[in-house]
Amino acid sequence: MKSLKELFRIGPGPSSSHTLGPQRAARMFQKETRFATRYEAVLFGSLALTGKGHQSDTIIKAVFSPIPCDVHFQIGEDLKHPNTMKLTAFDKENQVLDTWTIYSIGGGAIEIEGKVLKEGKEVYPHHTFKEIIQYCKEHNLHLYEYVDCFEQVDDYLLEILLQMCRTVDNGLNQQGLLPGKLKLERIARKLLDKANACTSLMEREKLLLSAYAYSASEENAAGGMVVTAPTLGSSGVLPALLYYYYYDCKYQREELLKGLKIAGLFGNLIKQNATISGAQGGCQAEIGAACAMAAAMVAYLRGLNEKQIECAAEMGIEHHLGLTCDPVGGYVMIPCIERNAVAALRAMDSAVLAEFISQVKENRVSFDMVVNTMGNTGKQMPMELRETSLGGLALVVPVSEC
Ligand code: SF4
Repeated sequence: MKSLKELFRIGPGPSSSHTLGPQRAARMFQKETRFATRYEAVLFGSLALTGKGHQSDTIIKAVFSPIPCDVHFQIGEDLKHPNTMKLTAFDKENQVLDTWTIYSIGGGAIEIEGKVLKEGKEVYPHHTFKEIIQYCKEHNLHLYEYVDCFEQVDDYLLEILLQMCRTVDNGLNQQGLLPGKLKLERIARKLLDKANACTSLMEREKLLLSAYAYSASEENAAGGMVVTAPTLGSSGVLPALLYYYYYDCKYQREELLKGLKIAGLFGNLIKQNATISGAQGGCQAEIGAACAMAAAMVAYLRGLNEKQIECAAEMGIEHHLGLTCDPVGGYVMIPCIERNAVAALRAMDSAVLAEFISQVKENRVSFDMVVNTMGNTGKQMPMELRETSLGGLALVVPVSEC
């Protein structure tokens, strides 16, 4: 498995595979083609179908600016990966300097045909949760100590934690309409005001978590600075729980960093053994993965043991199996923003349930089983329901009347 630094990345919203991945690819390409006088970008598959709403064209042009770049959306090709793009650089005689074919594989990660990227290095020797937990038992390690054995990421994760909190803060201080044709209003601040006026402790907790998840997701939809967790579309779930435990429950940073390491481990396993790309596996791969990561973190923060942490993460993804990706108008707004809030609540519920379920029964579904199932379910999902805006809610919710 690769470094947690490749799972948690800071970048502009609204989509890790459609914004962050293309931005990183364009930057790398620009460095290698310094004498270019013109660029051309062709986006295929899901990048072509939802690239406009996800602002792929805007971000690519911004990287190459002031050098002009024509962006074309090409639909109907047979592709190796649903998020494919081709970048070409031309010199002043209009001769091709270089061409790259790039795959944006989810969470901001990219692959370039014919090139080996430094970022691809394997850091962890184990490939399944079963192998990890076996290694932990043999060496008497907790899951967060397992991470420490293979990489030092405390400083990096502190940056991630602080950025997640900044994102939630930024969103809570914004009101008005989100950019784009949906004319969707930000409501995070209103949810926070409702939470603060609430007298029921249980309802207050739910409203707070929802407010924080909405806040980070609205920032993402507006193109603000966010953290892939594991993607940008699902970047409201983990920050909502972290923010809640930090500011409302007054947990120490050290504890939260341990929780982040555990969340990262589960996210990495999903990324390696299935997918975290909505274009490949539907929303179960994004929101389902985020919920599993957050559930594992919450289970740890609630003092649960490794078996219970696994159970919480397993439940977090199990009950998102089959969830499709059908963003209305190609924007990461409907159903995405609300879905982040629901998944944050579900992550908390999964952790609470895991504690009690483990006292009365053996969990028959392991984390590894559910991850494989998610990957296979994604492969069986029709293309229309995998980040193409050609099916599901995207067909029935009218963009102009929203
Ligand atoms: S529906 Fe889910 S996977 Fe699709 S863009 Fe929205 S958050 Fe991402």
